[in-house]
Amino acid sequence: MIQAPVYLSRVTSEQLLEATREVIAGGGSSNMRNLGIQTPLVLDRSAGCRIWDVEDNALIDVNMGYGPHLFGYADPDVLGVVAERLRLGAVTGIPHRLDHEAGELIAAAVPTIEQVRFANSGTEAITSALRLARFVTGRTVVVTFEGHYHGWSETVLRKAAITNDGASALGAVPGAPGMIPEALVHTLQLPWNDPGALDDLFAARGDQIAAVILEPVCGNAGLVHPLPGFLERIADLAARHGALLVFDEVITGFRVALGGAQELLSIRPDLTIVSKVLGGGFPVAAFGGSKEIMAPLARNEAFHAGVFAGNHAAVTAVVAMIGKLRGNPSVYDTLDLAGGYLEQRLTEVFAAAGHNVRIARCGSVMSVALLTGAPDSDPAYDACVALIDFAAHRRLQLLCQEAGLYFHPNPLEPWFLSTAHTPDVLDTVVGTVRESLARL
Ligand SMILES: *Cc1c(COP(=O)(O)O)cnc(C)c1O
Repeated sequence: MIQAPVYLSRVTSEQLLEATREVIAGGGSSNMRNLGIQTPLVLDRSAGCRIWDVEDNALIDVNMGYGPHLFGYADPDVLGVVAERLRLGAVTGIPHRLDHEAGELIAAAVPTIEQVRFANSGTEAITSALRLARFVTGRTVVVTFEGHYHGWSETVLRKAAITNDGASALGAVPGAPGMIPEALVHTLQLPWNDPGALDDLFAARGDQIAAVILEPVCGNAGLVHPLPGFLERIADLAARHGALLVFDEVITGFRVALGGAQELLSIRPDLTIVSKVLGGGFPVAAFGGSKEIMAPLARNEAFHAGVFAGNHAAVTAVVAMIGKLRGNPSVYDTLDLAGGYLEQRLTEVFAAAGHNVRIARCGSVMSVALLTGAPDSDPAYDACVALIDFAAHRRLQLLCQEAGLYFHPNPLEPWFLSTAHTPDVLDTVVGTVRESLARL
């Protein structure tokens, strides 16, 4: 166990957050981070499945930094390798000998990737992938789906992804204040799991569509699986109309299987974006596909750049992380068992307390949301969101946080388990939820 630093307990999260807000707009460098700010939580450190605040309170975390830490926080196997590497320099802007190894590991793991380019965040990699798709096809239209999040860049951000309540999440209003309204002119949004709307759009504008981008299992509207046949239909329509299929596997990549959701679901996208688990907690993303699709980048015709893109520390983390995943082939079964156990126990606990809840899961990613009425089996985005009791969920979140369990205050944000979430830890999670429900 890590020793508590001596400076702790002199300041409360509340005091420190108030001071931080003087110099960091909103208190944190992401709007998503500031959604939960009503109950101040300022952290000192993290390890395994736990986070410690500045008052030295330990909490079990099931948000896990939005998902990168598949082996838990501060995993010595990744941290150690990167720390060693840092002493040898982290950023030079010149190719590094580990680039080859990292590229090979990704290409070997993800079924449809032969070549990649690295970037620093999911947002950046997606922006570059969509530009490449437009370059390759010579078309401009990009099709997205309601509830799917593809980062905060100008052409893909929808209001739905950045709000904390159901009312504004519904309606999928384009953009956020300050965005160029015309930026979304070429971005068309369809309801998720609606084959009719898909067919209609391709019939009307199929020859203008550069790309269809989606999360193969949607993890940003709660967890919403594709209906059987829906992804196959998209792939088929895209192929027939010369549009590229782009899988945003920022969450699912290396999380639901070594080869991501495309391996799990046996669908072959043209371009894939991976991030989160890829760097085991270090900021790195990659986008890639066949050599043919990546050729404009190989020839330096399509433009993608970044001083920190593929920096040595990030690439080292990729090598360490994929190396560890390959050395632990049973990790996905282990995580799936843990997820299944937690899903079952939580379902029992919510039922016993007489609450309607929607729990959905894909391996170690799950979403838990209190509902205003009986759960709807309709997996359409609207149907999921409309039923969520955002206020009750938020009250439950606060109670759990006070009792030592952290999950995101927004019920559309999933829970992520790691190998550090042992059966004992999961029992504690279930117990905390049960006790918090009793006080709700
Ligand atoms: C987190 C996320 C992104 C954005 O990644 P950033 O690193 O925050 O820019 C994109 N797509 C999906 C599916 C995500 O979950």
